[in-house]
Amino acid sequence: YDSFAALPKVNSFASLPSAFYTRLDTRPLSDAKLLHANRDVADSLGLSDKALTSSEFLSVVSGSSSMEAGATLSAVYSGHQFGVWAGQLGDGRAHLLTGVGHPDNELEIQLKGAGPTPYSRMGDGRAVLRSSVREYLASEAMHGLGIPTTRALALVASSQPVIRETIESAAVVTRVAPSFIRFGSFEHWSSRKQPQELKILADYVIDRFYPDCLEAADSVKPGQVYIELLRRITVKTAELMAAWQVVGFCHGVMNTDNMSIIGLTLDYGPFGFMDGFDARHICNHTDSNGRYAWHAQPAVANWNLFQLANSLYDLVPDAERLQGALAEFEPRFLSSMQTKMLSKLGLNEWLAGDESLIDALWSLMHENKADFTLTFRQLAHAPGLSGAVSEQISVDLGGTTSPNVQPFVDLFLDRDAANAWLTSYQARLKRQGTSWQDRVSGMLSTNPLYVLRNHLAHQAIDAAQKGDPGEIDRLMLLLKNPCSAVKGMESYAALPPAWASKLEVSCSS
Ligand code: AMP
Ligand code: MG
Ligand code: MG
Repeated sequence: YDSFAALPKVNSFASLPSAFYTRLDTRPLSDAKLLHANRDVADSLGLSDKALTSSEFLSVVSGSSSMEAGATLSAVYSGHQFGVWAGQLGDGRAHLLTGVGHPDNELEIQLKGAGPTPYSRMGDGRAVLRSSVREYLASEAMHGLGIPTTRALALVASSQPVIRETIESAAVVTRVAPSFIRFGSFEHWSSRKQPQELKILADYVIDRFYPDCLEAADSVKPGQVYIELLRRITVKTAELMAAWQVVGFCHGVMNTDNMSIIGLTLDYGPFGFMDGFDARHICNHTDSNGRYAWHAQPAVANWNLFQLANSLYDLVPDAERLQGALAEFEPRFLSSMQTKMLSKLGLNEWLAGDESLIDALWSLMHENKADFTLTFRQLAHAPGLSGAVSEQISVDLGGTTSPNVQPFVDLFLDRDAANAWLTSYQARLKRQGTSWQDRVSGMLSTNPLYVLRNHLAHQAIDAAQKGDPGEIDRLMLLLKNPCSAVKGMESYAALPPAWASKLEVSCSS
């Protein structure tokens, strides 16, 4: 398709009753400039190169014109913020333009930062360039890591001032996802004691994303279909948590209004990929109690699911069955972690002793604040280097061909402890038949070399604020294939500079 106008429109969300949203137009930005467009996401929508370079594209993704006249809307939801009921929230700075594609495969196109809505409360409906660059890059980084996420199609900058702690400039990110419905969308109707709307929403979600609930719920028990829905959301959320944990991703604001009903990573604010590993790492400067610290994320997700289950109680007043669905969380999370850790360590089955081997690695990393990403990456070749993949490894190591143990061990202050752990790891490797090469190439295709470290995002923001999208472009290329070492890009894989530890990321965005 050569234009937005030509895309087949579905917009199923807009077919819900009007209580679910407010229809309104976006507000244009002054002197909007397209900083970056994401070719991959354009492909998934079916937009051609011609479409991306058209004036229509800039006009739509900057909020100057609508995609489909009268279709634009902002959705209402509620939620728990930092464990406390916050009442009504809603899209305070997001506008759903429309849903496109085939009804079975609909993608929603949403602008973030295109002006105030009835749900803006005290906010201005804008997003600053700084956090927009972060969201734009992070969603691509997560996608590159194979982690379910909303995507981003375009990033628009402007000179329009926005007041935060300092004066910053406004930007708009165009986000794309099958749906932006949150746990908080359900909590909204249950808190309002409107079970009819709750049912409409649940049925809509089942119809679009969990149609197999209907078969599984072929049961005499009333409301079983919603139990099945909760079970599936629980499983998806548990798997998402495992995926976050094993790349050292911290979301930062896991409020129930930021929890996707289809298990996507949603709403990138003060998120962070860890540098040095600290199990209690808090990426959000505003989160002084560490509610959303790395180690707490799975338990918080479970708590959030409990709030969702509470809402569904209005449809199925049967605590036992709801709890039965929630009970899937822990075993699913643990088995997903197990599978992922095996592949990160190049092990092909779970043997007695593996749990303590892996726990010992986490402890070692934690005690030494070892770099999260490089620990796993360097472990691939730590037990010894040979032949086929040595070139790939030499790029990792910045051109040195000197093998093996040293780059891993050097990530730890206590090198004796690192060597001792390596000895037990080597012994474990001997207990399986995998060839050296298979193990190493498996590990190198599982453990990323490039993650969106705070300082890398910061550099891209600095350049973008000067109007230069070059750094965004370079990062996008690396983050798309985060496991493939690229010659000449060693600095993007290196340990962070000292100043990185002083970067603070807060809720202000
Ligand atoms: P968040 O913590 O970013 O998920 O946002 C929580 C709520 O605040 C949501 O309803 C957002 O839409 C709203 N919000 C955040 N920032 C702004 C803003 N600058 N203007 C209007 N609403 C906002
Ligand atoms: Mg949010
Ligand atoms: Mg946000």
